[in-house]
Amino acid sequence: MRILVVEDEHRIAQSIKKGLELEHFAVDLAYTGIEGYDLASSEDYDLIILDLMLPQMDGLTVCKQLRSQGNHTPILILTAKTQISDKVNGLDTGADDYLTKPFSFDELLARIRALSRRPRKALDSVLAVADLKLNPTDFSVSRQNQSISLSAKEFALLEYLLRNPGKIVSKDQIISHVWNYDSDVLPNTVEVNIRNLRNKIDRPFSKLPPLIQTVRGFGYKVEDNHV
Ligand code: CA
Repeated sequence: MRILVVEDEHRIAQSIKKGLELEHFAVDLAYTGIEGYDLASSEDYDLIILDLMLPQMDGLTVCKQLRSQGNHTPILILTAKTQISDKVNGLDTGADDYLTKPFSFDELLARIRALSRRPRKALDSVLAVADLKLNPTDFSVSRQNQSISLSAKEFALLEYLLRNPGKIVSKDQIISHVWNYDSDVLPNTVEVNIRNLRNKIDRPFSKLPPLIQTVRGFGYKVEDNHV
């Protein structure tokens, strides 16, 4: 899952980023409203954490403008403002949830999980293709009811593929959703992680059709070919 954090207090922004990365999220930071708005409109995020009091463009305006453009990425407003009217305003402009500072990191995580359980297509929180299941809330993966242990990156990669079932995703799309915007990830790193994933979710089940497909020249997809 790829998250944009728009927060002008560098210390808070950095600590949120660090905490979320430990939880397997890929995180980009923006320190001003304009920067946040630009990133949110040009990149594809799964969630935006948005401060309200921001230089250049305030959070409510960022939220309003994104929604008016048809951008429906879930937005969690994070702010020191505690007045009821600000919360109502935030939700009225199209934010999905609200958390006031100071907040506990555990509560932030719980809210992110709740928002990510509202996927834009599927209703189920468990992602599945054929007999492969991934649960984003407890980080468990299984195939044929056998539990499979994955590294943090393998998990994030499989989650991204399963959120796009049957769709070809390019290495660039994978890099931007699973790694960070600004991290130096080589396409080769994606190949290595795909190979490791195959060794865990396809190879041990050799009697079943493989779920991860390579689409030469385009990328990868996860699909149930046993129709
Ligand atoms: Ca602020």
